Amino acid sequence: MNVFNAGDVVPQIPKLFWRGEFDFEFELLPYRSTRISAKKAANFFVSGLNQYLRPARPLGYPVIAQVEPANFCNLSCPLCLTTSITKSRIPTLLPFETFQRFIDECGDYLLHLIFWNWGEPFLNPDLFRMIAYAKARGIVVHTSTNGNVALDEARAEALVDSGLGSLVFAVDGATQRTYEKYRKGGRLDVVLANIEKIVRIRMLKGLASPVINMRFVVMKHNEVEIPQARALAAKLGVDFFSLKTVDMPPKIGVDLDKTYAPTKENYRRYEYERDTFQRKSAPFVCMRPWKRVTLDATGEIIPCEYDYLNKHSFGNINQGGVMNAWKSERGVAFRKAFHLGHNEFYLCRDCTYKNSIVDDCTVERQRMIKTT
Ligand code: SF4
Repeated sequence: MNVFNAGDVVPQIPKLFWRGEFDFEFELLPYRSTRISAKKAANFFVSGLNQYLRPARPLGYPVIAQVEPANFCNLSCPLCLTTSITKSRIPTLLPFETFQRFIDECGDYLLHLIFWNWGEPFLNPDLFRMIAYAKARGIVVHTSTNGNVALDEARAEALVDSGLGSLVFAVDGATQRTYEKYRKGGRLDVVLANIEKIVRIRMLKGLASPVINMRFVVMKHNEVEIPQARALAAKLGVDFFSLKTVDMPPKIGVDLDKTYAPTKENYRRYEYERDTFQRKSAPFVCMRPWKRVTLDATGEIIPCEYDYLNKHSFGNINQGGVMNAWKSERGVAFRKAFHLGHNEFYLCRDCTYKNSIVDDCTVERQRMIKTT
């Protein structure tokens, strides 16, 4: 949640304007934006004012985007909304032309693109082409996969050549038996083969990216395999191994925390009332409708990825473009009604960040290989 805070930005102002560089962290991983133009840098400061002034019609262009390449998945993970709640949507792949339109309009201003939402990004055959298109505008692109779409050599090479900044592989187990308890329908051998291929091709090409983050979502049934998974990450030669807290959306079912919350408290997203699994309340501030523009696979510009029903869409990119939607009357009305703390919008009522005791969903990351 905490990308681009004043405390991180101010010390970097000289570097930003003189060298066109900016360092930031996302999900505890380090990133560097380079070749930042004066136009992009100027907008960065203008749009930064939004988090202080919070105008209903935001100033400048957004600097962070989240885009949904595919709104369906090849696995059926029990806690993912894609398995149950968002399944009612028509399975859609984001067309390349829609993405191109998005980048053509915002690319001169964006620093960071988070390339996932609900669904498996690698199901979109144009994904690598889209990454390359965004990268050509100097945008740091970050995506995530369950790793179950088998990559042949040519596809793996296309991925490495796309200019992708970093790639998360979700690997929540070190054995097939444990892995498939959550990643239902998934095959650990396919995931590991994909990782091995990308690491090898990247090394042969002498490239530093994509940075590979093997990420383990910690749950009660798999926490015992963390050491084994860490050893696996080291053997595969990935850059990072990280641990993420599990999202347990109450709308999916009851007693989720009892079933899935890890026993080790450090790995939990929530603190509980004594001897229960009732989540303790924790302070919560959300500025998502100002800080991040979100495009779903159908072209809707939504206030946050949790608006999976598009009920609060600001508008469709194919009917007027991104900025018309971002600054539209519907967007204005939503932001006017939005509170930084608790909201009764259907998307916010049980927001995963509400009552979260960790600033970032990722609670631990370990660098597995040395950088030069
Ligand atoms: S669901 Fe609502 S409160 Fe949660 S991140 Fe999205 S906009 Fe913010």
